[in-house]
Amino acid sequence: MKHLDCICEVPSDCADGTEERSVYLTFDDGPDPVWTPEVLDLLAQHRTPATFFVIGDAAVDRPELIRRMIADGHEVANHTMTHPDLSRCAPGEVEREIVEANSAIMMACPHAAVRYFRAPYGSWTEEVLTASASTGLAPLHWSVDPRDWSRPGADSIVDSVLAGLRPGAIVLLHDGCERSQSDPREQTVMALSRLIPALHDRGFTVRPLPQHH
Ligand SMILES: [Zn+2]
Repeated sequence: MKHLDCICEVPSDCADGTEERSVYLTFDDGPDPVWTPEVLDLLAQHRTPATFFVIGDAAVDRPELIRRMIADGHEVANHTMTHPDLSRCAPGEVEREIVEANSAIMMACPHAAVRYFRAPYGSWTEEVLTASASTGLAPLHWSVDPRDWSRPGADSIVDSVLAGLRPGAIVLLHDGCERSQSDPREQTVMALSRLIPALHDRGFTVRPLPQHH
């Protein structure tokens, strides 16, 4: 798929003026009552920031997890209301999916500042990018996808993240599932517990996403 104008990695001049090698962790498809707390516990233990691209419907079900993400210092971002493939939605529907998810996040946590949007399945079209812009959200894709959702084993998840690593990399992981499924995410949790120390060992600092321009 051709990516039009979405952000696939953070340019080094946007990395908050630091010379350090920055990397960014993102988690999609939550909040999930079982796996999101485990991910949050691990991030807290390692004092590591992340961005959670949450599904609006799931945020309505678990507002306390949205509040915990914010309280723990993470960023909450928009991953639509119902996780459709937006390339198959009518233009009005695309914008509604984004606007409703923003409302769901704000209902859960009124002082959340939603800055970023990620299209489900990375399905970026001109209409999706336009809707993202008109709702004031920066479209954020990813640069490293270890396909943790396919449960290839924790070692494989860690190895493919490390193999794809470069400064500014945005890593895609999943703390939740599409609503129609209920796949366990224990491999992602296990991988994360090894990945954070491995990133530090390689001289990378996990950072919050910068202000977009
Ligand atoms: Zn997703």
